[in-house]
Amino acid sequence: MGDNMESLKMLLNNAKTGGYAVAAYNINNLEWTRFILEASMDSRAPLILEVSEGAVKYMGGFKLVVDMVNDLIEELAIDIPVALHLDHGRSFLVCKKAIDAGFTSVMFDGSDLPLSQNIALTKEVVDYAHLQNVTVEAEVGQVGENNKIGKRAEVGDCDRFVRETGVDCLAPALGNVHGLYNSNIQIDLKAAREISKLTNVPLVLHGGSGVSDEEFLELVNNGIYKVNINTALQMVWAKAVREYLDSNADVYDPRKIIKSGEQAIKNEVIRINNLLGSINKA
Ligand SMILES: [Zn+2]
Repeated sequence: MGDNMESLKMLLNNAKTGGYAVAAYNINNLEWTRFILEASMDSRAPLILEVSEGAVKYMGGFKLVVDMVNDLIEELAIDIPVALHLDHGRSFLVCKKAIDAGFTSVMFDGSDLPLSQNIALTKEVVDYAHLQNVTVEAEVGQVGENNKIGKRAEVGDCDRFVRETGVDCLAPALGNVHGLYNSNIQIDLKAAREISKLTNVPLVLHGGSGVSDEEFLELVNNGIYKVNINTALQMVWAKAVREYLDSNADVYDPRKIIKSGEQAIKNEVIRINNLLGSINKA
């Protein structure tokens, strides 16, 4: 594990005990990582930094991401707990690379596979990860894409999945969708509560950007302690940068351009941390 980071399992256990949820924000570059670290420290909220396979490639590889996050924590004197998580790892090999580089947790996403294969591969990742104290998340059912609801997780499948894999936290498909939702999508919180009771592991909600403020307040009561946020930060950043460029046509300094979205990201991070009840919990 990265020297300055904390285990995801510990963060989620603390959240469960404390009755709040922790946001997992996807990062895209150095600046995003700094903005999110600083905003989370300002709100004294524990933090999960999350990286997709695509973003790892974009930034230059697993080792670079681990070193960058470790160095930022040190240079900025970040004193809240920070976990570094691989989002939607599609193979054992990708999860292994993240673990070997120092990620504190990985998600193995076998949601395209039949349940028994998803179980077998998740177990392989869990066995490898646990040797190094790395936390594992996995998906049952399919989180939707492009405003289309995916295959919902069956409560019985989740129970079998957790028992047979030993996975630390679970992302069941509850009618949630990646990206923004159209208004008629609702998360099945009743199913979440049943799955949570039966499996006793912290649940993870993907597609947090499309969740309404009212639903946010209900997540913890239904066993959801990790909420993934990607699109929401992208949208507030892009809007701020677009406005800045529109009214500053002569600016070409990339630092000024990227930084023009800083406050928008920070405000959104603090707002979400507040909704999840994680403010002042670190
Ligand atoms: Zn996801």
